Amino acid sequence: MTVRTALIYSPDFNRFSYGREHPFKVQRFRLAYELMDAYGLLKQPGARIFDCKPAEEEDLLSFHSHGYLAKLKEFSSSDEPRADFRYGLGDIENPVFRGLYDWARLGAGGTVEAARLVTEEGYDIAFNLAGGWHHAHRSRASGFSYLNDSVIAINKLLAKGKRVVYLDLDAHHGDGVQDAFYDTDRVLTISIHESGIHFFPGTGSEKETGSGKGKGYSVNVPLREHTDDALFMKAFDEVAFPLIAAYDPDVLVTQLGADTFRTDPLTRLEITTHSYSYVVRKLKALRIPWVAVGGGGYENINVARAWTLAWAIMNGVDLSPRLPARFVRTIQELGYPNRMLLDAMHWAEDDDRNRALDAVEKSIEVIRKKIFPIIIGPYG
Ligand SMILES: [Zn+2]
Repeated sequence: MTVRTALIYSPDFNRFSYGREHPFKVQRFRLAYELMDAYGLLKQPGARIFDCKPAEEEDLLSFHSHGYLAKLKEFSSSDEPRADFRYGLGDIENPVFRGLYDWARLGAGGTVEAARLVTEEGYDIAFNLAGGWHHAHRSRASGFSYLNDSVIAINKLLAKGKRVVYLDLDAHHGDGVQDAFYDTDRVLTISIHESGIHFFPGTGSEKETGSGKGKGYSVNVPLREHTDDALFMKAFDEVAFPLIAAYDPDVLVTQLGADTFRTDPLTRLEITTHSYSYVVRKLKALRIPWVAVGGGGYENINVARAWTLAWAIMNGVDLSPRLPARFVRTIQELGYPNRMLLDAMHWAEDDDRNRALDAVEKSIEVIRKKIFPIIIGPYG
């Protein structure tokens, strides 16, 4: 049976700038889309491309506060540089520009649309490239994120009575999403990320497990710097996969950030396309209605390669490991030397790797003790 897949993409995703010096480059969306196109992935049987509309204010209010949204809107209609640090707006990390409110709503609208396609239109998988703003809080922008698209979309799923797993594969802890659902058992959040001990946003210890009714329903696997492919797969196989399977949600929402890659300028993990595609393949094998969103990634070609691979796997297509000539020409003009889609599996240096292995084994042990009995049962 052909899997029905939807890709959410709007040319307007690329019509914004965080400023020349900012690490977040919106061109990543177009590059990912162009690479998918160069591989012929936009014309697969069963696949459709959807544009999207900005999310409705009513939907934003299911999570964000009135005061924050009013400030975001006010600053976005001005050409003057504005700032209000109580709301995290206007600093180097989260600059404000004219049009920001509508641009951020467009990304959130894409994730809401992806959730709608999966729950109402019979799509098996829907992937919004411009989603994954997992650091946005109720009344505060943070970590390049203004509107928390995943929380907003999950709130709509909850209103329909759905139970949800949110899996976050970004190099940074999915703090905004975890906070939003910290005290409920209707959303199981799992985040695998670089440890927050000396790293943004500073949270995501395995000891954060939820509160009240949500105790056991927030799961964190902090990884030490230099964690490589084999250890990343271990964290996924021994924690995320069995928990998702046991919880058996109505909808799986995954944040597919590509800033875990070893060449990312902002992070210190050593992941490649090898473990990234392994994880995406296993997620697909679960056959749970699936909403995927983008996320971090500060080396644009990594982002394009990662999301193209993910979209190919969603559609059951094997790709040539060599990037298409047309795409190589495009990126050469931009100064990128890449020629390959796939990286070889990578092993970190022995000492680094041993420390990373110790750390992940300790985290897994804590999770097995504290979380598994609640989600999987006494024999988990
Ligand atoms: Zn990130």
